[in-house]
Amino acid sequence: MRLVLLGAPGSGKGTQATRLREHLQVPHISTGELLRAAVAAGTPLGLQAKAIMSAGNLVSDEIVLGMLEERFQRSDTVHGFILDGYPRNLSQANALDVLLDRIGQSMDLAIQLEVDQELLVARLAGRAQAEGRADDSPEAVRNRLRVYEEQTAPVVDHYRTQGKLAHLDGVGSLDDVFTRILEAISPYADVG
Ligand code: ADP
Repeated sequence: MRLVLLGAPGSGKGTQATRLREHLQVPHISTGELLRAAVAAGTPLGLQAKAIMSAGNLVSDEIVLGMLEERFQRSDTVHGFILDGYPRNLSQANALDVLLDRIGQSMDLAIQLEVDQELLVARLAGRAQAEGRADDSPEAVRNRLRVYEEQTAPVVDHYRTQGKLAHLDGVGSLDDVFTRILEAISPYADVG
């Protein structure tokens, strides 16, 4: 099945996507991870993205779409995928619909993990200590949350309008949240 995970930075998308990948046996595609790999490898794209990412701003739609198109060409995506970190604004949401349409596919479901702002800030502060990600500095975190509210939150309505939104409570233990996700996807379990 083809799933997209929506939620603010710190909402737990990445962690839940990893579990879902095991469960569904489809690849987890994280645009943040693809970008961080490009930065680490020092590719021209990575060099361009580095400063933008560490400030917590969005990399250009064009760059990210190109990266995603390339990723979809790999054969492991034929039975579906879990998309995490994309789409992050309405123009990316429209571009994704067009891209999938062109390869004869469409999204099955968008899962939104809702977590309130205070808890997000606390989770990200904890992660900053544990992982030392460049964009987990207090200033970059504030900016990422602002960018999410302004640009990414409207993407939720895009999927709601299409009748493809599952809005879930993202607060609780990892197991609790995963159970909610499994319930939300159960009607699609047989989608190949
Ligand atoms: P988080 O959800 O915690 O912000 P991600 O790993 O999804 O972390 O993204 C990290 C950074 O990578 C973003 O702040 C942004 O700079 C860049 N990025 C990831 N996905 C996209 C995207 N779809 N469009 C533009 N920039 C992106």
